[in-house]
Amino acid sequence: MPTAATTSTPEISVLKQFIGGKWIEGSSAKEIVSTNPADSRQVLAKLKGCDKNDAVKAIDAAEKAFPAWKATPPPVRGRILAKAAAIARARKEELAKLMTREQGKILPEALGEMEKGINLMEWFAGEGVRLGGVSMPSELPQNLLYTLRQPLGVVSIITPWNFPWAIPVWKISPALVAGNCVIFKPASLVPAMAVEIVKIFEEAGLPPGVLNLVLGSGSAMGDVLVEEPRIKAVSFTGSNEIGRRVSSIGGARGIKVTCEMGGKNPAVVWGDADLKLALAGVMKGAFGSTGQRCTATSRLILDERVADEFLKLLLAEVKKIKVGDGLDAAVGMGPAVDEAQLLTDLEYIEIGKVEGAKLLCGGKRLTDGDHKHGWFVEPTVFDGVGPRSRLWQEEVFGPVLAVARAKTFDEALALANDSAFGLTCALYTQDLTLAMRFCENVEAGMVHVNSPTIGGEAQVPFGGVKGSGVGEREMSKEGLHFFTELKTVFLDYTGASRSSNIY
Ligand code: NAP
Repeated sequence: MPTAATTSTPEISVLKQFIGGKWIEGSSAKEIVSTNPADSRQVLAKLKGCDKNDAVKAIDAAEKAFPAWKATPPPVRGRILAKAAAIARARKEELAKLMTREQGKILPEALGEMEKGINLMEWFAGEGVRLGGVSMPSELPQNLLYTLRQPLGVVSIITPWNFPWAIPVWKISPALVAGNCVIFKPASLVPAMAVEIVKIFEEAGLPPGVLNLVLGSGSAMGDVLVEEPRIKAVSFTGSNEIGRRVSSIGGARGIKVTCEMGGKNPAVVWGDADLKLALAGVMKGAFGSTGQRCTATSRLILDERVADEFLKLLLAEVKKIKVGDGLDAAVGMGPAVDEAQLLTDLEYIEIGKVEGAKLLCGGKRLTDGDHKHGWFVEPTVFDGVGPRSRLWQEEVFGPVLAVARAKTFDEALALANDSAFGLTCALYTQDLTLAMRFCENVEAGMVHVNSPTIGGEAQVPFGGVKGSGVGEREMSKEGLHFFTELKTVFLDYTGASRSSNIY
C-alpha cells in the first residue's frame, strides 16, 4: 500500500526524502533512478534528489531534535531499536526480495544480509541498558571517580551500495542508541532499500528529526555532510578515494571520522589444508555477492605442492555457477550492480591479460538469452598473477580471482602482506603453529582460520588496517563508543577544601 514515503504505480515507486519527520521532495533538478541490474529495463524507483540546501535543512532538523533525544534514557532508545528489529524481522522476506531486485545479489545472500542487520539492531538495542562508563578508586578519600558516555550531537552516516541494508543498520543503530541525531546519506544506486530502512525506524517510534534521509549525489552534496560546522562525526563506508577525502576534510575540522574502505583480501591454502573445506571457503569468498564485497577473496595464494590439484577442483566448481537473476533459485551468482561496475570488471580482465596472467576461466560479459538486458559477467580466475601487477594490487570489486603460488610459508605470508589494503584474510591449514604465525603477522584487521574471508558478528569489531580503514572499528562496543564522547567526573564528597600533593 502506498505510504507517505512512497506512492506506487504497479511498476515504479516514487520515493521521497525524510527530513524533520516529514516525507518531502528533494530540491535537486537531478533525478535518482533505481533500476534492476538483472534487467536494466526495469525501473524500480525514482525520486528528486537532495541538494546542499536540503542537506542543511536536515542538519537543522537534527540539531532541533537533539536535546530531547539526548535526554531520552538509553534503555528507552534501545527499546525503539528493538521494535525496529521486530518490524524488520516480520518484513525480512519482502525486503530481501527488494534488495535482490535493486542491488542484484542472489536471494539467499539478501536474506543473510537481512538477518545480519537484524542481529545488529538487536545487539545494539541491548546496549541501551549497558551504555555507561566505569567507576574507579581515587588516590584521595571520599572522592568518586567515574566516566560517562555521552552523545556527540548530529552525525553523518554515508554508505555504499553493496550492503544496502546491513551497513546502514550497523552505523545507524549505535549512533541512535548512543543518543545522536543522524543524517543518513545512502548510495544513489540503492534508494528503495534506504527508504525502507527509514520507514522501519519511523514505524518503531523514532521522534521527528532524529533520523533524516538525504538521497542525492555524493559528489554534489557529500562535502556538506562532512564540512558543516554542526556535524560532530562522520561514519563512512565506501571507496578508498572518497574515504580519504572524507577523512582529510573531517580531520582538518578535528571531528571524529571513521572510514571503512576497500579491500584486496588474500586467502592462503597451505599444503596440509583440508582442500574441500578450503574450496568451499574460496568459492564463497571470491564469488559470493558477485565479488562485490569489501571482504571478498580477491587474491588466492596456493602452496605450490597442492596448487594444480586445488585449481582443478576450483575450476570444476566455478564452471558450475549459474549466473543470472538472483530471484531465480537455480542462480548462484547475480549481476554487477550497474554498467559502470561491469565495465570495471571487464577492464581488469583485460588488464590481467595484458599483464601476462593466465586466464583459466571466465573473462567475458554474458549477453545471451536472459542475460541480454542485465550487467552480467562470468566468474573469472587468473593464474600466475605477478605481485607487482595491477590485478594483484588493485581492488576490482567483481568476481575476478587472482592466483599466485608460494614455495614456503614465509613467501605466502609476504605475498599476503604485499598490499596497500588490509581488511581481512583467510588461512587454510591444519597446522596450529602456522595458523598462530599467520594470525600474529598478517597485516589485516580481521583474520579467518579455516573459514572464508567474509563474515562478521555484531559483538566483535569489524574493520581494516592500511588503506582499508581509518578511525575506530565498527560493530561491537568499539562501534558504539565511536558515537560517544567520554567524560571523566571527579566527585569530591568531603565537603571541605583539602590539600593534596596529587595534581
Ligand atoms: P563510493 O563511490 O566511495 O561511495 C560511497 C558513498 O559515498 C556513497 O553514498 C556515495 O554517494 C558517497 N559519496 C560520493 N562522493 C562523495 C563525497 N565527495 N563526499 C561524501 N560522500 C560521497 O563507494 P561505492 O562504490 O558505493 O562502494 C564500493 C566501495 O565500498 C568499494 O571500494 C568497497 O571496498 C567499499 N566497501 C568497504 C566496506 C568496508 O567495511 N571496508 C564495506 C563495503 C564496501 P553516491 O552513491 O551518490 O555517489
